[in-house]
Amino acid sequence: MKTGGAHIFSWPIRHPELVEGSVPLFAWAMTPGRVLLTQTQIRARVQQLGKSLTRHYRGKRPIFLGVMNGALFFLADLVRAIDLDETEISCVRLASYAGTNSTGKILGLDALDDSIAGRHVLIVDDILDTGRTLSALVARLKKLGAADVKICVLLQKRGKQEVPLHANWIGFKIPNHFVVGYGLDYDGRYRGLKQVRILTD
Ligand code: 5GP
Ligand code: MG
Repeated sequence: MKTGGAHIFSWPIRHPELVEGSVPLFAWAMTPGRVLLTQTQIRARVQQLGKSLTRHYRGKRPIFLGVMNGALFFLADLVRAIDLDETEISCVRLASYAGTNSTGKILGLDALDDSIAGRHVLIVDDILDTGRTLSALVARLKKLGAADVKICVLLQKRGKQEVPLHANWIGFKIPNHFVVGYGLDYDGRYRGLKQVRILTD
């Protein structure tokens, strides 16, 4: 994390609606910079992941559980890249309890119920950062009696993981930058970008 200027106030307020009165003062200064992943690279990798998931889940009836809002486009593209007779899609909206630091308290887990019991669940998320969100989600799904829980993330940040967690499918391993686009937002913005780009000031 940089300590100068805009970064102090704007990084990484992931869910500013949860941090009352905490408005990223220099949000205007942060814009999508260098393209890390092009649309073509993302498309090609999603197709590969789709093939691998098809092989793995053939004969099963998995639930693809998207973590909203970040996984919105990834989930939609991934599901269309797999070739299975029966795939259910479900979504859960999770948010970190505090904006600037991952406390491990995750909002939204209560929305999941025991309809998940006995099912093969594939969690689909945008990015694995500290791993706290997905680790809490996995624990909750297991508590609800899921038969099997696996994880597919579009991105994994190198050197950021704080809790032991294995992602079974990873689209791309990326350096430690705050990225936006293809579903990933900054303060609600830039989700619609077709590439993944590094947020810069
Ligand atoms: P965790 O730290 O729990 O692994 O990550 C929780 C969530 O923080 C991710 O699912 C994602 O929504 C958000 N996040 C983490 N790193 C980034 C990033 O570089 N860009 C954006 N837009 N969101 C991120
Ligand atoms: Mg997310």
